[in-house]
Amino acid sequence: MCAHKIAVGVLGATGMVGQRYIYLLKDHPWFEVTYVAASPRSAGKKYREAVESRWLIGSDVPAGVADLVVQDANDAKLALGACKFVFSALEMDKDAIKALEAAYAAEGIPVVSNASANRWTDDVPMLIPEINPHHLSVIAEQKKHRGWDKGFIAVKPNCSLQSYMMPIFALQQAGYPVKRMIVTTLQATSGAGYPGVPSFDMIDNIVPYIGGEEEKTEREVLKILGTVKDGKIENAAGPLVAAHCNRVPVIDGHTACVSLEFDLPENKKPSLEEIERVWTAFTALPQELALPSAPVQPIIVRHEPNRPQPRRDRENDKGMAVTIGRLRTCPVFDIRFVALSHNTKRGAALGGILNAELLKAKGFFDAL
Ligand code: NAP
Repeated sequence: MCAHKIAVGVLGATGMVGQRYIYLLKDHPWFEVTYVAASPRSAGKKYREAVESRWLIGSDVPAGVADLVVQDANDAKLALGACKFVFSALEMDKDAIKALEAAYAAEGIPVVSNASANRWTDDVPMLIPEINPHHLSVIAEQKKHRGWDKGFIAVKPNCSLQSYMMPIFALQQAGYPVKRMIVTTLQATSGAGYPGVPSFDMIDNIVPYIGGEEEKTEREVLKILGTVKDGKIENAAGPLVAAHCNRVPVIDGHTACVSLEFDLPENKKPSLEEIERVWTAFTALPQELALPSAPVQPIIVRHEPNRPQPRRDRENDKGMAVTIGRLRTCPVFDIRFVALSHNTKRGAALGGILNAELLKAKGFFDAL
């Protein structure tokens, strides 16, 4: 253990997102994995044995983690003294995750979560660090009214909306608010975890239904763009989003085809050139703070008629940049475009790590 690094745990370390955490944290400048936990099925095994037949990353299990013994994630007390905070990448019943994340926080162990269980808890920030870092202010109230001393919970939103949230936020910030949007997502199979959707359902096919995904894609936008009032997050009134979420035979990288209408009179609507200028110039707090996992340029605009593509664009800037193409006018709404983001990096593990970097930079781990 490097003396200058913070010891971290990963709950759900054996799963699709958990494995990404293990891999992405292996050379992290601030954090070091010292604790891994999963279901009772994996508990008691060395990490490399627990993932032996299902390690999904094209590289060996990092040496520093391979021999850690997997603990039962259901017992928060086991993490005491073994790590300072945890990333939660658990896939279980929502109420069980909610209770478990609260149990870690009550033990004084902050939880940076990927799970959806606490996304609608109104004193829990749902962060995209480029958009709503000010939502961190609700953590003080969260700790106060739950009686937690050092522990707290912060979450990240669903992977389906990562590709278009920064673009619509950048437009809103530049004075071009969005009134209505229709979004059709083409979501990678890795978004369903491991083993996920059976290969027989996925090869040579598209599945036009992902349970609960359209509701999350439509609602989470409003909390992310919400304001803080009396220690809680109050949802924004708009934009109104209609989503069609589809599972497609792509391994990583969620694509979204978006049509949107501005909440502006005709003569105030931005031109395509102005929209591209806003997107290309967009930077925010993570870039200002030079957080290790922050992309240098969060939104990349491509002009080729056949981009973005998952295989060619998902890894842009560590898998943390959003890539946009096919920006053009829309005969029904105002504009349309195609946006792409890496679902297990920006949309899951590296997005969670960026949240933790923001929390550290803002002093939330100082007392640990
Ligand atoms: P996954 O591959 O199914 O992994 C689930 C993890 O949870 C495994 O480590 C598993 O341990 C553990 N687990 C399952 N049941 C448990 C129990 N009863 N007690 C303790 N641990 C248990 O799922 P995933 O895709 O990594 O997703 C993890 C979380 O991230 C989910 O909440 C998901 O909604 C969210 N998320 C996923 C993505 C994505 O792109 N995949 C994107 C954003 C958010 P065992 O291996 O021992 O069974």
